[in-house]
Amino acid sequence: MNQSRNPSGRGPRCCVIGHPVNQSRSPLIHGYWLEKHGLAGSYERLDVAPEALPDFVGMMRNGLFAGANVTVPHKQDIIPLLDSLTEAATAIGAVNTVYREGDRLVGENSDVTGFLAHLDASAAGWDRNCQAALVLGAGGAARGIIHGLLSRGITQVHVANRDPARAEALARAFGPRVMPLGWDLRNDAVAGADLIANATSLGMKGQPRLELDLRRLRPGCIVDDIVYVPLETDLLRMARDRGAVTVDGLGMLLHQAVAGFTRWFGIVPQVTPELRALVQRDVEAAP
Ligand code: NDP
Repeated sequence: MNQSRNPSGRGPRCCVIGHPVNQSRSPLIHGYWLEKHGLAGSYERLDVAPEALPDFVGMMRNGLFAGANVTVPHKQDIIPLLDSLTEAATAIGAVNTVYREGDRLVGENSDVTGFLAHLDASAAGWDRNCQAALVLGAGGAARGIIHGLLSRGITQVHVANRDPARAEALARAFGPRVMPLGWDLRNDAVAGADLIANATSLGMKGQPRLELDLRRLRPGCIVDDIVYVPLETDLLRMARDRGAVTVDGLGMLLHQAVAGFTRWFGIVPQVTPELRALVQRDVEAAP
């Protein structure tokens, strides 16, 4: 466990950095676990503008912070400032968790473990019968999801994205199991998919809705929407009405926090119904 101390002299001091960062639920999640386990330590929210990112990393090097979660817009830009990356962070090309190994700062990507852990919890054994997946989106979250699906042996991952060049770039990066698909062709891929994941921002509060024709959805298809505001998106509601196994985005958010907490505070925390209810209330209360 890391020995960086917070100013009160009690336990490791950790934070989430972003710009803006006020919407982050990470302080709520880590604060819950710190209290639950009666641990000394702290977790705070820190607004770090892009030009201040090197200074923040310097503060980590000086031991002011034991660890950090990293959110928009720093997930890629922090990479050259760190000493090494985990295998997943290298493959995905983005970091959302930083921890220390001796004097070295290591970047990890726990979006992928969060995505997989929540899938495992919601649809146990899902990967036994899942061969073909359809991923909507080709941004940072989609990269993590594709990496996770490939790591579980999924043989075909179709990626549909509004900007086709981004889907093509992902196919080049991840190899022949990943196939780019024009955004207009996404409905054609529904019938062949054992799992559909929405990794676009469509369907999020304040964003346009995701138009996807589910009439040819396979029975038992898993539909995972990583958007978590609202908790039940139109996609999830329509998929549930058609008998799909639905997986929401809130669980991914909760499970992705496990890796950092474990590294920084030395205890593997649990994603409990109580924690879920706490964060759900916060999400639902948001303006
Ligand atoms: P990015 O900005 O990297 O990617 C956004 C994606 O959405 C791109 O593929 C983009 O397409 C697509 N998109 C945006 N607007 C439209 C539109 N009008 N029509 C079609 N496609 C559109 O964001 P992230 O990958 O970081 O995040 C994506 C979503 O996932 C967000 O809603 C975020 O909140 C959620 N998320 C949830 C997490 C969780 O733990 N549950 C974790 C991380 C993210 P294009 O490339 O063409 O612009």
